[in-house]
Amino acid sequence: MIRANDPKLKSWVPVPENSDFPIQNLPLGIIKVNDKHHVASRIGDYVIDLAVLNRSGLLGVDFVQRVFESEHINDCIGLGKSLMRDLRSRLSRLLDDKHTDLASDEDLRKRCLIPIRDVEVCMPLDIRNYTDFYSSIEHATNVGTMFRDPENALLPNWKHIPIGYHGRASSIILSGTPVKRPKGQLKGKDDAVPVYGPTKQLDFELEMAFVTCKSNDLGNTISTDETEEYIFGMVLFNDWSARDIQSWEYVPLGPFLAKSFASSISAWVVNLDALKPFRVEGPTQDPKPLPYLQFTGQHNYDICLDVYIESPMFIPAKIVHSNYKYMYWNMAQQLAHHASNGCNIQVGDLYASGTISGPIRDSFGSMLELTWRGTDPIKMPDGSERKFIQDRDKVIMHAYAKNDDVRIGFGEVITEIKPAD
Ligand code: MN
Repeated sequence: MIRANDPKLKSWVPVPENSDFPIQNLPLGIIKVNDKHHVASRIGDYVIDLAVLNRSGLLGVDFVQRVFESEHINDCIGLGKSLMRDLRSRLSRLLDDKHTDLASDEDLRKRCLIPIRDVEVCMPLDIRNYTDFYSSIEHATNVGTMFRDPENALLPNWKHIPIGYHGRASSIILSGTPVKRPKGQLKGKDDAVPVYGPTKQLDFELEMAFVTCKSNDLGNTISTDETEEYIFGMVLFNDWSARDIQSWEYVPLGPFLAKSFASSISAWVVNLDALKPFRVEGPTQDPKPLPYLQFTGQHNYDICLDVYIESPMFIPAKIVHSNYKYMYWNMAQQLAHHASNGCNIQVGDLYASGTISGPIRDSFGSMLELTWRGTDPIKMPDGSERKFIQDRDKVIMHAYAKNDDVRIGFGEVITEIKPAD
């Protein structure tokens, strides 16, 4: 039992009902205070400045100050799983209502506990490498049915190997950052030659991503049992996609410019420890994967995933309710597979799940699937229709794990689409 997960813990910091950030969460992120970046945690509608808290001595003596006075959380999480568990546990003690060290020190409390509306929340990670998997069987089946052949929707390799591709790290942006409609080569089915212009099929992909906190040397592999030492935590992830660019460019080497213009992440990286109460069994894998992909324990998580569209014409309308638990290939398998050729994993890498779709239409994680490639548009509250995402639409994603005792959330990923130049 991880003490910081105890559902009975209550904080002296007020936490609104249904907040994503109760005392049992305590994620990590980056804030900007007086023009300086600090590592921070979050509780309710407050951030906790860990640079200030550590300097006070209250956190304990083992943490090097410079890892908290940093533009990103990489050096902090790079201290490793056990120190990060320690950090969360000490933070939990300082914030619970049975301990008054911090609560009673008014000066320190005011300096390190700041209302979130008074700080700038920044990009948490310096992302070195970004990989996107394709691990939802429902999503792969839907896409295979639409683009290829309903009789053979899954390609023969799909149930043997966690399919993925190396994505672009430099264009991963923080929630709240607008995205300009990308341009690219487009070629309709009946067009003789392609044209260059703004995408007409801009889409979101509802995904989650895990962040690594440990590196392996080039040439070394990682077993599924070892993967948890490498995975610090998770974020919510919107992998923006331009379907018309994608369908023209993706053969034979896979996704390229249809994906690399932007992907949006949530601001707070949730420690995998905090998600422990929500571990569940994954789908049965048949055929049995190769030995290096077999695993022990539960590696799927019951995390609700919602997507809304908002526009200048209407308030947010929910269009998707899915769940991370549907994932066919789990994080342990994805990471073990990624390193199975000796590829070196690094601290701060981001590994995205691929679009997460469930079994029914309402749980499909992209417009491509929801509108069946535009053939069955969604009605919006103002009477308009959406086949794909329009200029000035905002796409809002939420992720949260919830049981009778506690709700561990990821906050939101919100992105407004600006018109192309
Ligand atoms: Mn994707």
